[in-house]
Amino acid sequence: MNKKVAFYTLGCKLNFSETSSISRMFEGRGYEKVEFQDRPDIFIINTCSVTENADKKCKKIVKEAKKINPNGFVTIIGCYAQLKPKEISEIKGVDAVLGAAEKFQLIDKLDGFTKKDKPQVLASDINEAKTFNNAFSINDRTRTFLKVQDGCNYHCAFCTIPLARGKSRSDTIANIVKSAKEIAINEVKEIVLTGVNTGDFGIQEGKRKERFVDLVKALDEVEGIDRFRISSIEPNLLTNEIIEFVAQSKRFVPHFHIPLQSGSNKILRTMRRRYLRELYEDRVAKIKSLMPQCCIGVDVIVGFPGETDEDFMDTYHFLKELPISYLHVFTYSERVNTTASEMEEVVPLKVRNKRSKMLRSLSEKMKRAFYEENVGREDVVLFENDIKDGLMEGFTNNYVRVVAKYDPIMVNELKTVKLSGISHDGLMEVTEANQEVFAH
Ligand code: SF4
Repeated sequence: MNKKVAFYTLGCKLNFSETSSISRMFEGRGYEKVEFQDRPDIFIINTCSVTENADKKCKKIVKEAKKINPNGFVTIIGCYAQLKPKEISEIKGVDAVLGAAEKFQLIDKLDGFTKKDKPQVLASDINEAKTFNNAFSINDRTRTFLKVQDGCNYHCAFCTIPLARGKSRSDTIANIVKSAKEIAINEVKEIVLTGVNTGDFGIQEGKRKERFVDLVKALDEVEGIDRFRISSIEPNLLTNEIIEFVAQSKRFVPHFHIPLQSGSNKILRTMRRRYLRELYEDRVAKIKSLMPQCCIGVDVIVGFPGETDEDFMDTYHFLKELPISYLHVFTYSERVNTTASEMEEVVPLKVRNKRSKMLRSLSEKMKRAFYEENVGREDVVLFENDIKDGLMEGFTNNYVRVVAKYDPIMVNELKTVKLSGISHDGLMEVTEANQEVFAH
């Protein structure tokens, strides 16, 4: 009988795309993919180092796995496995830990998944993680996360990702176009381009060989995929050429997610970010001048060491004045092995939380204002297959979340709708072109 394997993923889109690809490798080798609770023979847990309490979460999942099948083979991969292989191998019940350079070869490396006397630790130095492993998620048919780039050569003071994922490296444009065509065969309508530092796309074997904008141009020609979304791009890498291309493209939607992290130049410098607020402002202005309805999401960190009340208010006012659509607010927390964790002028937790709350409430207001600006427009919605209380949801091209009455024929379909008003829980209601109301 075929061995059964189950997966659990923590963290970001990149991890999800990688779990999905690894699971297809197992299926290709004759394993049966099952749910976590279905008593698998092998458990693969893909961890994240950014997740709060990564260690506790990892322990908890291992414990659950052992409850489900005490004889199951428990394997830990992912960013946390690369950063703390030894600690993880000491968690009771773990059979193997694989690092960034090893995780895509785990079927061969673990040779039949037979338990040894001691947990196996196969995690080489992160500098060994040089190859690019192609990955994409196909979970449901609506959207796919396609990994185009991995690793990062920047050294932002707060970030452990370069230590967990290694140097910046990318797939080739030709390969990515091939993957996109393969994804199109599966009737997926939207692809989200994913990477650690996506805009840094183009480094192969340590050399810069291709450009992100050329990838965007090549993908725009792929028949069968209706929409492409760029998941996140550093402001210093978001060139006029990219913005101008997206503004007139057939398939790239008007939505950018651009990390800012702080609106204070002093803090941006100590964070070792590669731009100042003026550049950020300029990028947003350029986008809005060409695509007034473009959705712009912003990552921001509060409570970074040395962030005074004045610095924080600088960020607050800076954001408030920008024509952006929503914020992802991160409360700064110390990560081992980062330069930020050794900095003085630590901001008390209470203050960090207060600042976070202020920005979250600003984000709510911004989102509401953005939705209000969209009322009355027509846009294309891709309806998803998540049905709750007789309702279905989807996103417009410019990332407005829309709610409509469930209609099975609409799942995974693109439909032009009129955005008619905002519901009590903050979602956009819609009417059909013929004015028949199909929202609740
Ligand atoms: S750009 Fe900075 S924050 Fe982003 S992955 Fe690289 S080091 Fe981390």
